[in-house]
Amino acid sequence: MNSFRPPERTLMGPGPSDVSPRVLAALGQPTIGHLDPEFIRMMDQIKALLQYAFQTKNEMTLAVSAPGSAGMECCFVNLVEPGDTVIVAQNGAFGGRMKENVERCGATPIMVEHAWGKAIDPNKAEDALKANPDAKVLAFVQAETATGVLSDAAALTTLAKAHDCLTIVDSVTALGGSPLNVDEWGIDAIYSGTQKCLSCTPGLSPVSFSDAAVEVIKNRKSKVQSWFLDLNLVMGYWGEGAKRTYHHTAPINPLYALHESLLILKEEGLENAWARHTRNHLALRTGIEAMGLSLIVEEASRLPQMNAVSVPDGVDEAALRSELLRDFNLEIGAGLGALAGKIWRLGLMGHSSNPTNVLLCLGAMDTVLTSMGANIQSGVAVEKARAFYKSNG
Ligand SMILES: *Cc1c(COP(=O)(O)O)cnc(C)c1O
Repeated sequence: MNSFRPPERTLMGPGPSDVSPRVLAALGQPTIGHLDPEFIRMMDQIKALLQYAFQTKNEMTLAVSAPGSAGMECCFVNLVEPGDTVIVAQNGAFGGRMKENVERCGATPIMVEHAWGKAIDPNKAEDALKANPDAKVLAFVQAETATGVLSDAAALTTLAKAHDCLTIVDSVTALGGSPLNVDEWGIDAIYSGTQKCLSCTPGLSPVSFSDAAVEVIKNRKSKVQSWFLDLNLVMGYWGEGAKRTYHHTAPINPLYALHESLLILKEEGLENAWARHTRNHLALRTGIEAMGLSLIVEEASRLPQMNAVSVPDGVDEAALRSELLRDFNLEIGAGLGALAGKIWRLGLMGHSSNPTNVLLCLGAMDTVLTSMGANIQSGVAVEKARAFYKSNG
């Protein structure tokens, strides 16, 4: 056996995204103790950087030592108790996992179903809030990675507030890529991931909880069912000024990487990052449409960092992905669930959201689809996208 040497890929799927060399370099720095004063100083900076990324002053803002799915579970197990009612507005794969979480907390999920590929309809959410006055939480996914749909989180949170309901928001794919203002929008509990628009390595989950959510957690009738994710215990470790006590050994080097990726975001500026994601999305879309392909999501709710492209008739979608990987070192995503075999998912997340990747992807797709004999407009996509960039400097 030899040391593992991964190939150099361009990652344009649903995550992980390309990791910046700066982040990889941070990861390789010497490991120090997790209670070392220098490490604690860095953890405090991570908290401040996360507060910036989430646009919040929430004291309870930290990175859970596990991937986005654990951040989801952290929000549910801390806020939801047996016997509670939780409204879940579902429009893709991840809302289904929210339902699982609610059930495993011993609570009752009220599902507000939407077709895959559609944004969450605030009217439907409002009907459910009216019909379930005892509901404690409204949960939804802001950026549905399975379909490439952006929902109106501000409108949904406002409705929840009007019905005295807390909110749990999945911002795994939104954070760093789409506008998100936790305090202004009044979000109570939010979780994200590191490997989407933060372009860090996978395995950590930024979370943030409002004061109202913290009050609910402190006044629980029952113990949080998960020892590891119980925020009452985790805060003894992450708490500002708290004398840090051992809870678990923090993933030290991955936290160096998160620190660096958040610093990169801060240096760029949130608004600039959001604008960059939109610009590259529009260039990609120009090329995709020039080829004669189409995006499945209607324009108003398209998620710039995740583009769902319909597979043309007669094309073997898996074969295209294999050829892109083999010949171009380019990874794109397949469809999930109801959309398996019907779409490709082109991610433009974080460090991956750049003109070079857009042009590489369009050129590679054009070449492979043409060689497969697909019914597309060949040889125009790259030029149209370049023209877009030139006229939208
Ligand atoms: C990726 C993703 C998750 C899960 O994150 P993991 O880090 O894979 O556990 C949850 N929700 C959404 C919307 C995602 O895109």
